[in-house]
Amino acid sequence: MMPTRYLLDAEGRAAIARLMTRRPLLGFDFDGTLAPIVMHPDEARLPEPTAKLLERLAARLPIAVVSGRQVLDVRHRLGFKPTHIVGNHGAEDEFDGPDTRVVTTLGAFRDRMLRMEPDLNRAGATIEDKGASIAIHYRMAPNPVAAREAIAALIAELPPGVLTEPGKRVVNVLVDGAPDKGDAMTRLTARYGADAGFYVGDDTNDEPAFERAAADWVTVRVGPRLDHSHARYYLNEQAEIDDVLRLMLEHLGDPGEGRPGPLFGT
Ligand SMILES: [Mg+2]
Repeated sequence: MMPTRYLLDAEGRAAIARLMTRRPLLGFDFDGTLAPIVMHPDEARLPEPTAKLLERLAARLPIAVVSGRQVLDVRHRLGFKPTHIVGNHGAEDEFDGPDTRVVTTLGAFRDRMLRMEPDLNRAGATIEDKGASIAIHYRMAPNPVAAREAIAALIAELPPGVLTEPGKRVVNVLVDGAPDKGDAMTRLTARYGADAGFYVGDDTNDEPAFERAAADWVTVRVGPRLDHSHARYYLNEQAEIDDVLRLMLEHLGDPGEGRPGPLFGT
């Protein structure tokens, strides 16, 4: 594991400059990375300036949004059209659909979950079934301890091949060996013939993308420096993402909105 450095200091900016001289695939997590964390996950959206910056970048480089949400759920929250969306933590491809083995394996868990759903709801936890994964949220629980206990009772018995991963006020139910965000980034860099990669995310399910990045990729975890993250760089807060996007555009010679760039024949 390399030491984590601040992305917007001189060394981090130089790493972005180097990256942009190549043809990188740019990968972005959605919640907490492109979109600010909100109390109601259903209200999460890209701020308009972020969407505008990404739209300009997407005209120049392949842009992937790699989310824990379903593809259908994340698409209408973006306000720009990325090159590719991957959902379900890596297990659902916008064009190829959800991983079928994963959907089948989750079936056995789903039966038990539906039986226990009333207990979970009483404890303030809500189930979000995303087909290729399931999220049990307790962000809104009046008593988070009670909610966590109800979730613990549900996941005390898991069918073969099913595992859980805690996130921010959520427990994700996933299939062991399901494609993760690391697999997604590897697959997409090959698909788009990219020479390098950039990936930024803010949560546990982003770590596989950091961990399996090639040595010359730029990987970034959003949030105060975490020494146990596999990301090489960090940002202090989500709002700094616009500075990163602007920096990328500058290195591509994009002079900014409203002015013609080199792509437009001036
Ligand atoms: Mg996130």
